[in-house]
Amino acid sequence: MGCGYGAQCCFVFISNTWQHGKQLLETGVIMLRLILFIISTLILYAILHLLIKDMPSIRKRVNRRVEPEELVQDPYCLTYIPKRLAIKKNVAGKECYFCNRNCLENYLKNGMREKG
Ligand SMILES: [Zn+2]
Repeated sequence: MGCGYGAQCCFVFISNTWQHGKQLLETGVIMLRLILFIISTLILYAILHLLIKDMPSIRKRVNRRVEPEELVQDPYCLTYIPKRLAIKKNVAGKECYFCNRNCLENYLKNGMREKG
C-alpha cells in the first residue's frame, strides 16, 4: 500500500482486511449452516422415504392375497413358479416357463439330445 499517511493508513488497511476476513468468516459460517441444513434435510427425507417405501409393499402383500398369482410349471424340474418370476422361452413353438436359467439351459440341451 503506497500511501503517505504512515501508521494511520496501515491501521485502516489492517482494519479493512480484518473486517473483510470477518465478513468472509461470517459468510463461511452461513454457508456451513446452509450445508448442514441441506444435509439434515436430505437425511430426514431419506428416512421419510424409507418409511413411506415400506407402506406400499405392505399394501401389495395384501393385494397379492386377494389376487391369486398365476402359476406355471417348469418343464425341466417340474416346479411351480409364479408366472411373473419365470423365465419365458419359446421352445419349438411352445411357450415354456423356467424357474431359473440353469433349468432353461438344461431343458434346451436335453431337448436337443432327444431330437438328435
Ligand atoms: Zn426349474
